[in-house]
Amino acid sequence: MSYEGVTQTGIDYVIEGISSVAERFNPTITQLTVGWDSFQGGVGVQNYLGIILWDHVKSDRDLITGDICAFRYSELGLVECLKAAELNISIGLYPGLSAYAQSATRTHNGFLIMTAALNVNELPNNLTTAVLYDPRKVMVHEYFHAYQQSHVIDLAQKPSNEISEYGPIWFIEGSAEYVSVLISGQKYWKPFETIMRFYQRRIDETLTGFPQLSLENIETHDQKRLLSGEPYEIEMMYYWSAWAVAHAINLSSYHSVLYAYWEDLSVYGPTIAWERNIGMTFEEFYDSFAEFWALDSPTKWFKIAWQINAM
Ligand SMILES: [Zn+2]
Repeated sequence: MSYEGVTQTGIDYVIEGISSVAERFNPTITQLTVGWDSFQGGVGVQNYLGIILWDHVKSDRDLITGDICAFRYSELGLVECLKAAELNISIGLYPGLSAYAQSATRTHNGFLIMTAALNVNELPNNLTTAVLYDPRKVMVHEYFHAYQQSHVIDLAQKPSNEISEYGPIWFIEGSAEYVSVLISGQKYWKPFETIMRFYQRRIDETLTGFPQLSLENIETHDQKRLLSGEPYEIEMMYYWSAWAVAHAINLSSYHSVLYAYWEDLSVYGPTIAWERNIGMTFEEFYDSFAEFWALDSPTKWFKIAWQINAM
């Protein structure tokens, strides 16, 4: 759905981004089939992904909240629904957040991607903004979250001080970011090497200032909240995590990290799913990644360079 302020060019960028990732990552009908009383009479397929493209200055917010209500919150009455939709709007205006995805867990009848503060109409013109705001790349990242979510929609939410039902936060963000960087390279939006080495430089600068940082600090929702607003938030949450995913792929395979792990989640939970697919525990992985990160920059890049051609 697009609203006032979004151009046809913007819509085309979003479609290009979504198609490039949706051709590779799709949930199965079984994963999407749920037996919820409030949803399609007790058994239904959660196969709807709504994407809202809007401009926070020009678009009519009442129109958007009405539309969100029409497809999103099957269990809520109109007043509650509008309140929830207002929240969708206000989260999207959070500074620094370009877009976000929300899961179709219970009480919902569809996955949602909101593009709020992202200008989908134009491609950014320098490396830093291209990495953060290329609408095609951002759409790949957000779609990958919807793909992740489709594997856990029917699982109970874990307490916020534990590793989530998806796995550690760094892996949720890192895999979405990694896939968006990889596809950017493969589709010639921006070279894989350019982005990964840009991330590498930013991480190294960050670690110089904050040498105590570790992936273990980004496992739970509580830790994510602590990280929020810190000067190293983006570098840790996205850049370093994407590199950690590249390292995990080196230790196992594309298939293990980006497909099999997610398929194993509902049966085994994240800890065992990780061990089955990466071949070691999270703790062993952190040690292995620390060892990898101690290598010099060109060697690190050389070790993951093959990945551009492998999926
Ligand atoms: Zn994300």
